[in-house]
Amino acid sequence: MRINPISAKTNHYQSNVLLKTKKEVPDEVKSNEINLNHLNSTYNQTQINFRGATEVSRALVKQIPLEDKLASIFQNFKLGDMILIGKNLHECAKKMYENAGLIKNAIKRGFFIPDENLGGCLGFIKNSMGDTEVINLNDFEVPLITDNKTYPLKAKESFYVVRDDILSVNGNLLKIKEEPKSDLSMFRKNFTRAFDFESEANKNIEKINKKTISQLMQKKHKSSTPVTFAQVGGLHELKDSLKKDIIYPIRYPDAYEGMELNHGFILYGPPGTGKTHIARALANEAGANFISLNGLDLESKWVGESEANWRNLFDEAKEKQPTIIFLDEFDAVARTRDSKDVYGDKVVNQLLTLMTDIDNANDDVFVIAATNNFKALDSAVVRSGRFGKHYEVTPPDKEGLREIFKINTQNRKLDENINIDDMLDKLVNIKATGADVRHIVNEAHNNGFVRAGIFEKMENSTYSVMDIKNFKITQEDFDKALMDFLKDKKDTSRKPIGFIRPQAS
Ligand code: ADP
Repeated sequence: MRINPISAKTNHYQSNVLLKTKKEVPDEVKSNEINLNHLNSTYNQTQINFRGATEVSRALVKQIPLEDKLASIFQNFKLGDMILIGKNLHECAKKMYENAGLIKNAIKRGFFIPDENLGGCLGFIKNSMGDTEVINLNDFEVPLITDNKTYPLKAKESFYVVRDDILSVNGNLLKIKEEPKSDLSMFRKNFTRAFDFESEANKNIEKINKKTISQLMQKKHKSSTPVTFAQVGGLHELKDSLKKDIIYPIRYPDAYEGMELNHGFILYGPPGTGKTHIARALANEAGANFISLNGLDLESKWVGESEANWRNLFDEAKEKQPTIIFLDEFDAVARTRDSKDVYGDKVVNQLLTLMTDIDNANDDVFVIAATNNFKALDSAVVRSGRFGKHYEVTPPDKEGLREIFKINTQNRKLDENINIDDMLDKLVNIKATGADVRHIVNEAHNNGFVRAGIFEKMENSTYSVMDIKNFKITQEDFDKALMDFLKDKKDTSRKPIGFIRPQAS
């Protein structure tokens, strides 16, 4: 065992004592008990026992501020990791277990930092977008102070944190830092307890995989919802390209004899711009089977046995061709290798191999990957040629918005005095997406019902068909919807886990 002196030069927590070091995850804590489902019981059985920590080192560890201990773990924090902070491991683990629904991926490593003074429990995880999320495990609100503004993090709510954010737990402030004042990596074992759940997590993932793939196989033969290109506003160039890339080759195979087709596409752009919507419409127009998968699900459930699962999925797609596979939130699967996520790598390689097979066999299987974060994609995927065509999907211009507005209001009665042009100008200014338009129209409709007392009548059971016959959505209803939307947009510019934009019904 090496003995490492701490010098004032390398460490700001002044001491002249010697500390023993050990490798980071001690063998004695390698449990094969757990993935998250077993979190409670595993932590429950574990006694906090800082082996090798002498009186002196304990005294030293006490001097290290909690924010630096936390920052030290953040330095090597990755997807599948979780940190708990609090007075009592068992209590914090129990609370984390109760809030397990907030975590979308399997937990493979856990860290516990005991702290007497925080006055509550906090959990931290890394999400698949690469953000660090804090989970308020307490029964009380924990204000999150960011840029001099305060976000009230409610009990059992999660939120992402960035450098210099401050969490106020019972009045005790915890600052988020990316690195500690000095390198603490040698001393981590003295202030944190590490747990390795990887082998058990992988076993569980394997089980879930088998279930998921069999469920998927049953579901995907249902025809896609009948959305057509006529219900996609704007995006004319994209529609035109997709016709030539996918629809015509499927419809007129003779014409494409001997021609090399592109089978992989990436649609990228902000959420709500219609990437999923157009992919659904495309499958419908092409008369193809539509398999829609979310990268987050894939990432969390398919790791481990993913190679076999991807093969099964593609075999099935080939068997039922023509098929369009839509991979939403693709960055969760194919994120950059710089994050050194070996699981991601395995998935990416397998996916690229299967894409090559499709290319070689010239199957009528087309894979459309969508992402809000093109830059996060693994360059191996982007440059491989397997996902050869990249289309940017931007928020619509005024004419695009007009079309989307029309599509979303075609079955509603609008007052003829509504100044649609003025409203479209406002929507262009705020870079509103198709999803935003849909949301605003729905809200305006609701506002109209409130204004006309229709909800009230429904409540009193005095509502009659005549009420709706004379009903029209007015300018006032749209103004209010737009105002509320702008206010909402401000409030949710930082989004907690599970934040979901309005989706197609
Ligand atoms: P994305 O996949 O880009 O996040 P979605 O396709 O899920 O966005 O959009 C959400 C909803 O917004 C769609 O179901 C649709 O109702 C509406 N929408 C978005 N873009 C358009 C558009 N260009 N035309 C018509 N509706 C749209």
